[in-house]
Amino acid sequence: MAYDNDNIFAKILRGEIPCDKVFEDEHALAFRDINPQAPLHVLVIPKGAYVNMDDFSAQGSDAEIAGFIRAVGQVARELGIVDAGFRTLANNGPDAHQEVPHLHVHIFAGRDLGRMIKNFKD
Ligand code: 5GP
Repeated sequence: MAYDNDNIFAKILRGEIPCDKVFEDEHALAFRDINPQAPLHVLVIPKGAYVNMDDFSAQGSDAEIAGFIRAVGQVARELGIVDAGFRTLANNGPDAHQEVPHLHVHIFAGRDLGRMIKNFKD
């Protein structure tokens, strides 16, 4: 899937639309989700133009990948959610209902998040 330069997170990265920023460094930007699904719901995105985890893991440089993963951890530490616990989640493609075609890792925290995802047999 080709990267769409007009996706909403590309516009946030270019500063064309605002975000509630919680972290930024060379490789990543983190901001609060506009429609939070938990008391704390932050999105962490790489600064490079990657559609999803498949694209990023195949095309991203070692420095970008290391920088992004380190950023996810740093955001969690800075938000003070490590001890209580948090969930990271990345939706990739149609079955996962990925809405925005720029890789993003959700960080959820601030309550008991329950177990994993709904069991497929239910
Ligand atoms: P996905 O379903 O692609 O994994 O999640 C996309 C997320 O982006 C959703 O949780 C949605 O609320 C969030 N989102 C969509 N548009 C915006 C926006 O303009 N600003 C922010 N901060 N979050 C957005």
